[in-house]
Amino acid sequence: MEQVFAPWRIEWVDRDRSEDDEGCIFCRLPEETADRDNYVVARSPRSFVLMNNYPYNPGHVMVIPRTHTGEYAALDEETLLDHARLKQRTFEALDAALGVDGYNAGLNLGNAAGGSIDDHVHTHVVPRWGGDTNFMPVISDTKVIVQAIEDTYDALHEAFANFDDATVPGEGRAVEFEW
Ligand SMILES: [Zn+2]
Repeated sequence: MEQVFAPWRIEWVDRDRSEDDEGCIFCRLPEETADRDNYVVARSPRSFVLMNNYPYNPGHVMVIPRTHTGEYAALDEETLLDHARLKQRTFEALDAALGVDGYNAGLNLGNAAGGSIDDHVHTHVVPRWGGDTNFMPVISDTKVIVQAIEDTYDALHEAFANFDDATVPGEGRAVEFEW
């Protein structure tokens, strides 16, 4: 069977809530405060970083502008810059936390692109290591995956918190950046 690298197709699945309540998950999660439970690891003024709960590789995150739109062209300049800065921080934090060899990073735009949420723009950031294979078939046990994500969350949180301009508002809360 041909191996296709398509981490963008991995769905973000809301484990605890039904799919059709309360609207857009990417709008709702950054408004909540149970960041560690929600896998929200960092926030900037206009964006946030969410760990994928079905990661293609360890450290698979999404960097998501707070604006609810599926159109990249609809993001204003301030949001574009904020989102780009938070992506820079994300690469640096993943480097420090996981010793990454490389990255694939990209957007799914439009309903033919294969993403699971096409009405709210998000950039997938997938760490790569020499010789890596898709992590999911390797560990298919849900408990092991949750444990792996939580360990990665803590390592990544610590790396984000090490930036000079980072603050952590409390236990279980995401790292915050102001710029
Ligand atoms: Zn939204």
